[in-house]
Amino acid sequence: MNTKIQCPICYKNKTEIFNNSTFFYRSFTCEKPRNIHNNYLCRNCGLIWQNPQPSDNELSKFYADQYRKSPSKVSFYKKSVDLPIQLKESQNSFLRAQAFLNIFKKLNLSLPKNGKILDIGGYQGLFAWTLSAFTGLKAKIIDYNPNGLKFASSFLGIEQQQISNDILLSLLENTKNTFSIISMIHSLEHMRDPKEVIRLSTELLKDNGYIYIEVPNSLGSGLNDPTHLYTFNKNSLTLILISNNLNPIYVESGSLTHQAEPEFSNDRVVIRALAQKTNFIDKDFTNTKKSNYKIIIYKSLYLASLNTIYQMIKKYIKETFFIIIKIFGWIIYDFLPFGKEFFHTLKNFLRR
Ligand SMILES: [Zn+2]
Repeated sequence: MNTKIQCPICYKNKTEIFNNSTFFYRSFTCEKPRNIHNNYLCRNCGLIWQNPQPSDNELSKFYADQYRKSPSKVSFYKKSVDLPIQLKESQNSFLRAQAFLNIFKKLNLSLPKNGKILDIGGYQGLFAWTLSAFTGLKAKIIDYNPNGLKFASSFLGIEQQQISNDILLSLLENTKNTFSIISMIHSLEHMRDPKEVIRLSTELLKDNGYIYIEVPNSLGSGLNDPTHLYTFNKNSLTLILISNNLNPIYVESGSLTHQAEPEFSNDRVVIRALAQKTNFIDKDFTNTKKSNYKIIIYKSLYLASLNTIYQMIKKYIKETFFIIIKIFGWIIYDFLPFGKEFFHTLKNFLRR
């Protein structure tokens, strides 16, 4: 069954249709029903990808309708005005820079002192801006969204930017050997040809430069977002890097840097990878790994489902508990003769 479909990353034929609606666990960032397109799973490297991919028209519609759907909007009759950027999502981009800096600290690396920063899919520019603040290097961002780029130039002073409808063409317009940090923060999974994006990015990278990637992890992340054309795990992401002569000096799964909803509250919801150019790469990496990723992924997703249910129940119990405490507090304060006195004494006691 479907054995002829080849994995786009490891090129093996050990692939099969993967039905993500058998899991309770899902991502709520997108309200679209799951499985609009078939997902395939590669048992050899663990990659999950949509096949066939949604058309450009479908994708634009998903992005316009659902993606970063605004919780804050001011309307007047039929017209509505929105904030220039999604504030919460922007704060998250800012906090993701902390994860990048933590990796440098952990590996005892110092930040680059020359060259430029390129953030591919940089949206409103906050990740690149944060790295600029720490390195003093100029940043450039590439994104499809004009609103994000406008914010980056007018509020963050990021002058170098490129609006992009075709990421491969946009990358080709840049000068080779220019950038000392190239980052892709939750953008690689949206691209039609991630392998080629990494290949062209490597050409733009200076010899001692770093490529940094953060993507959702198939072992702990919802899989129903129709704009995610690929979902990686540590192994498939590593394969992309080494097949482009990049040395993966750090590839780890982890939790988010910001507060998250129960479905994103696990310790392997994302993968972070840092890599540098090299000439010595073990390209047989794919043949030396003998894991069956079907079993690994199914197991992880069932565990993630259970964890989500547990986190949700915990959240509701906690909220209910605090409501009950509040109601008791009000009753004591307002209706019992010694109530007010008791609270004032308690307040003074806590102050000391
Ligand atoms: Zn594969």
